[in-house]
Amino acid sequence: MTILHDFDLTRHTTFHVPARAQWFAEYDNVDELIEILSDKRFSGMPRLHIGGGSNLLFTKPFEGLVLHSSMKKVKMEKLSDTRILVHAESGLNWDTFVRHTIAEGLYGLENLAYIPGETGASAVQNIGAYGVEAKDHIYTVDTLDTLTGDMRTFQADECAYAYRDSMFKHTNGRYIVTGVSYLLSRNPAFTLDYGPLKELASDPDLTAMKVYEKVVDIRRSKLPEPDELGSAGSFFKNPVVTAGKYAALKQTYPDMPHYDAPDGVKIPAGWLIEHAGLKGFRIGGAEVYPRQCLVIVNTGNATATDITSLYSHVQHTVRSKYGIDLHPEANII
Ligand SMILES: Cc1cc2nc3c(=O)[nH]c(=O)nc-3n(C[C@H](O)[C@H](O)[C@H](O)COP(=O)(O)OP(=O)(O)OC[C@H]3O[C@@H](n4cnc5c(N)ncnc54)[C@H](O)[C@@H]3O)c2cc1C
Repeated sequence: MTILHDFDLTRHTTFHVPARAQWFAEYDNVDELIEILSDKRFSGMPRLHIGGGSNLLFTKPFEGLVLHSSMKKVKMEKLSDTRILVHAESGLNWDTFVRHTIAEGLYGLENLAYIPGETGASAVQNIGAYGVEAKDHIYTVDTLDTLTGDMRTFQADECAYAYRDSMFKHTNGRYIVTGVSYLLSRNPAFTLDYGPLKELASDPDLTAMKVYEKVVDIRRSKLPEPDELGSAGSFFKNPVVTAGKYAALKQTYPDMPHYDAPDGVKIPAGWLIEHAGLKGFRIGGAEVYPRQCLVIVNTGNATATDITSLYSHVQHTVRSKYGIDLHPEANII
């Protein structure tokens, strides 16, 4: 266990924007986590659990305790010849986990290749990419309930999963995710509906690794590498509008792309931002990433204020032009 005072968090977020925590504590097992939580130095303090910091923006020093898990073990349980449960502890790097499952001959997570962050957050964020979401394969989520001090395991259907959302995002940090079980398959079953993945459908020898590699290629061509250019990935969620609103917009913007969503029509936020003339728009060191306008990047010396000013400007411009509200996907602290 490591406990540090006045800790520099800058390298613990992929935005690489200067950030500090009053206290930072990292634990290697659940007993240590419980010990930290019962430490009198931290009683009554605000608490924030982070993973890889790849969806966080700290706008001011965090006056409280930032927690981080170093638990990284994986174990497998065979439910049948084809259905395998893979349990990963929260601190395991997500992409390492995905590659591990593929190496074990399992299918299901290949489309979620190369998403930054850790396995614990995958269940909080309901990460998604190229037609697959974490919730499609999550079986159970193990947590520590910080209110009662008890361990509690949630079935996936108790987690209120929705687009980049879960119950864990709405319970004030009550549940610390300690591990996640994914139900994967030994039978190949691919999701190849997304544009550039479609070409793989004709490959008679398609493997999860081939899909993984294709996804990595696509992502590298469109998204900034966190080590080279700071960002939190997609800064905004894709908005969902009513069918009536979409029909009205379509009259003015016939080329506007759209996708059916369970609760209306989803419109790519990147398209709205680009067609509002904001591609490459900068405030200070923060920029609307020209290769993918959904992303805000730190060009080198951005402050949190640059980023918040830029995202407010983007929201305002998109609202004025299309009458659509964009909501951040990134967690703003
Ligand atoms: C270049 C780039 C590309 C990206 N692409 C995608 C993408 O394709 N799809 C996608 O969905 N996301 C994407 N993201 C966003 C990010 O990778 C995900 O949101 C990821 O799940 C965040 O994981 P993390 O470990 O970094 O969590 P953090 O950013 O540290 O935390 C995210 C949230 O989870 C909470 N949290 C973290 N760990 C725990 C825990 N153990 N218990 C309880 N709460 C916890 C935090 O409090 C916070 O609310 C991208 C980000 C970047 C930088």
